[in-house]
Amino acid sequence: MSKIQMKTPLVEMDGDEMTRILWAWIKEKLIEPFVDLKTEYYDLGLKHRDETDDQVTVDSANAAKKYGVAVKCATITPNAQRVEEYQLKQMWKSPNGTIRAILDGTVFRSPILVNGVRPTVRTWKKPITIARHAYGDVYRNAEMRVPGAGKAELVFTGEDGKEIRQTVFDFRGPGVLQGMHNLDSSIVSFAHSCFQYALSVRQDLWFSTKDTISKTYDHRFKDIFAEIYEENYREAFEKAGITYFYTLIDDAVARVVRSEGGFIWACKNYDGDVMSDMVATAFGSLAMMTSVLVSPNGQFEYEAAHGTVTRHYYRYLKGEETSTNPVATIFAWSGALRKRGELDDVPDLQAFADRLEKATLDTINSGIMTKDLALLYEGDAKAVSSCEFLDEIAGRMAG
Ligand code: NAP
Ligand code: MG
Repeated sequence: MSKIQMKTPLVEMDGDEMTRILWAWIKEKLIEPFVDLKTEYYDLGLKHRDETDDQVTVDSANAAKKYGVAVKCATITPNAQRVEEYQLKQMWKSPNGTIRAILDGTVFRSPILVNGVRPTVRTWKKPITIARHAYGDVYRNAEMRVPGAGKAELVFTGEDGKEIRQTVFDFRGPGVLQGMHNLDSSIVSFAHSCFQYALSVRQDLWFSTKDTISKTYDHRFKDIFAEIYEENYREAFEKAGITYFYTLIDDAVARVVRSEGGFIWACKNYDGDVMSDMVATAFGSLAMMTSVLVSPNGQFEYEAAHGTVTRHYYRYLKGEETSTNPVATIFAWSGALRKRGELDDVPDLQAFADRLEKATLDTINSGIMTKDLALLYEGDAKAVSSCEFLDEIAGRMAG
């Protein structure tokens, strides 16, 4: 059997700990036997980030910009303890943050559904994808405790020195106060990413804010989405048979719970933070959440939503076999290969991605899975190690 040929390399961003181990196994067992894999390799493992003063992260993001499709392994975001553990020159920033800043993207997260692991919400039959705006609002706020009586004001001083002033509140006693901001440019990028992603997966797009209460701030989000939709996407949406739909956040929550799923829910930064944890948990497991960063220019970076699974890695280092779930990482690879196939018009590569996903789901549906899923599974489940699980999938691919 001849291997599938690729036209353009994938940008491969290797990572840390247990996911780095799974990464190599996935390539060796599930991809390289079938695909003549072309990648431009960047080692984002913490040691190499430190050696290159984090330049490798910047280079990898620029490569993603150049080639259009990247696949990323989970990476350590260093804290004080990691600085010591790895003897780092400094506490490097989160690679995901660096990559997101360069690609200027929006993160889309969706659960992978399997028979036997039923969502907590009975009506959900299809995945719900959360698109979280990842800039500003409460994450970039200025806040203070108000010590006592006094007047709080919002003051904007223009470059020309002109002031715009507005009273926030006349305090009679102590309290708290915060200021938030967002940027038209960031909201515009967010909107483009959402509309493009909806088209690429052919699903309806919902967007919700609290514009009835926040008549200027949230309303700006609503208006920008509406303008961009009318100007750039309405026609394409109608052609694709999908809809764009705006509603209040409270109405959205009620509709989401009553829905069957199968759509994208675009959320402001805080709403997306909270709702993605709710959706992930209600669908089952973090190890089954995929994540893709989509830039407004149509670049894609695929990864798993979970981290490097440190606790399993320490057991692996002691020579123990672990039952770490590789599914979200496999789907990061299949997502990236499928997108590469689409962009380069290589149908074999797209078909391979479908086959890999099907073999993975078939394995679980046959009752063979890692421990985390076996605990949730309704039915006879055989919990196996990561290696055994990957070998089972490989067997189905070859057969
Ligand atoms: P984590 O790696 O997601 O793991 C937390 C726990 O969730 C694990 O200990 C494990 O529970 C369970 N889990 C997560 N993924 C699993 C999988 N694939 N299979 C089975 N169980 C899984 O989060 P963390 O421990 O908070 O963070 C570890 C490191 O990852 C940190 O250095 C952090 O900076 C990094 N991180 C990276 C990313 C990213 O690159 N996107 C995202 C988040 C965190 P049990 O131990 O109970 O089995
Ligand atoms: Mg959160």
